[in-house]
Amino acid sequence: MSGPVMKHIAIIGGGFSGTMAAVNLARLSEVPLRVTVVNHGYPQGRGVAYSTRRPEHVLNVAARNMSALPEHPNHFVAWLRTRTEFADMPDTELRETFMPRRIYGDYVRSLTLHYTQPIDRRSPVETTFVDDQAVDIVARGAGARISFASGEVMDADKVLLATGNELPAELPGSEALAGHPAYAANPWLNWEAKLPPPTESIILLGTGLTTIDAIVTLLALGWAGNIHAVSRHGLLPQSHFKGRDYQEFPPPEIDLSLLGLEALVSLVEKHCRQLRDVGENPAIVVDKLRPHTQRLWQALSLAERREFVARHAARWNVMRHRIAPNIHRQVAAALEGGRLKITRGAVLHLEPVGARVRVHLGSAGEAAARHESIEGALVINCTGPQPRFSATRVVLLHTLLASGVVQPDAMDMGISIGPDFVALGSGGRPSPFLHVIGPLLRGTLWETVAVPELRSQAMRAAQILLGGLSSRTAFPPEKPAEPAVVEYWI
Ligand SMILES: Cc1cc2nc3c(=O)[nH]c(=O)nc-3n(C[C@H](O)[C@H](O)[C@H](O)COP(=O)(O)OP(=O)(O)OC[C@H]3O[C@@H](n4cnc5c(N)ncnc54)[C@H](O)[C@@H]3O)c2cc1C
Repeated sequence: MSGPVMKHIAIIGGGFSGTMAAVNLARLSEVPLRVTVVNHGYPQGRGVAYSTRRPEHVLNVAARNMSALPEHPNHFVAWLRTRTEFADMPDTELRETFMPRRIYGDYVRSLTLHYTQPIDRRSPVETTFVDDQAVDIVARGAGARISFASGEVMDADKVLLATGNELPAELPGSEALAGHPAYAANPWLNWEAKLPPPTESIILLGTGLTTIDAIVTLLALGWAGNIHAVSRHGLLPQSHFKGRDYQEFPPPEIDLSLLGLEALVSLVEKHCRQLRDVGENPAIVVDKLRPHTQRLWQALSLAERREFVARHAARWNVMRHRIAPNIHRQVAAALEGGRLKITRGAVLHLEPVGARVRVHLGSAGEAAARHESIEGALVINCTGPQPRFSATRVVLLHTLLASGVVQPDAMDMGISIGPDFVALGSGGRPSPFLHVIGPLLRGTLWETVAVPELRSQAMRAAQILLGGLSSRTAFPPEKPAEPAVVEYWI
């Protein structure tokens, strides 16, 4: 007699989010289950963020907050102790260290190996890794059929979409720069091979985290030319700092989600001022908001969300996405020494000029009011992942949009979802087979790009996908590792 047919879950995207969902399925399921992780492009487990091999590319979150397992907050620090170079580092120092991202990639890979290919126990979960690009997903029976660029197809009962960060959006004029030796459209792919002589200038479009990566790499390579970074606001990320636990925020008597945007902004600004007045960094308030950010975003009306993005997001981002102090020091020294120049301006157009690229800039907001141009022997698009979902250049997402399997969220920042990460198709119809996690949920959750949020999503998605199947529904939470009041990098 044959038993019940084993369920098959397909995960599309094997960066941090998809890989940790697979790890959690392997940890949680108590019934036989087939899991396939489909990944193409960046190495499995590492994705864009952790596939860099450059040692100067460090995490922008201290080790203490980078556990991949939500119920074991100390797990990454404990794993680091297995490596000789960290074995004797005092705990307080190790927890506050900003590790090279490649080491974090090693961590995720070692978790994958441990949980999905166990050698000393019989796991009821059979996990397979496939290197292929998914290009379409259609309904088939109660489940789905996935098509691949290779021409293969695969059927699954449930599909988890975790395709992560997209490349930066194309810029006006960049179509004429395809293959140009002085233009790098992908800031995460080997632009070092295009380095011009140090008598030339390099232009970085954007002043966010990707630009910081490029600057520290240029410094580490000993490239001695001028670096020019350009963005609408001209704001560089701030440094993490030794802070204090600011008990006054959020005020316990106020329900932040009832405030609305205007009152919320006033409250935040008031507490920022209070901190500044006593010589503390106002970014403490942004950190104190972190556990509430998703809920607050969801409580805002669509008009308020749009207003936040238009008027406050740039300021929010520089306070929220901070960098390791050591990296900040290097960037500050380059600025002081004149090696690095920051210009405020909107990129109007890129133009090939012989072996160089000319960047036409207008003043932010009123592009026509001022016009200037600068030339670089290498121009790197560091503007961050493509922000408009409907303009996606990912074949799979484009196909899913066209067929109505998914629809953009109201902000057009990602995929529209309902409860339990279920994708909503055209007309708001919940998909019977498709769930979505990771940066694709930006429009719904706002705060959904970094490990502290993604590890919980990967765990929750595994629990949801196991659904009616017998599973260890949850692991008992470990006691939080944070002492109540401490001086730490925040
Ligand atoms: C440069 C950089 C540095 C960062 N540093 C930090 C940090 O220090 N700390 C932190 O908490 N967060 C950091 N982040 C945030 C980062 O988004 C998350 O930590 C996390 O890596 C996101 O993982 P993901 O799996 O959702 O997406 P991704 O890492 O983008 O992985 C998605 C994977 O899916 C694959 N894929 C996409 N489409 C398909 C398809 N159709 N078929 C098959 N495969 C497909 C991609 O090639 C990729 O391998 C950083 C992000 C970047 C870009």
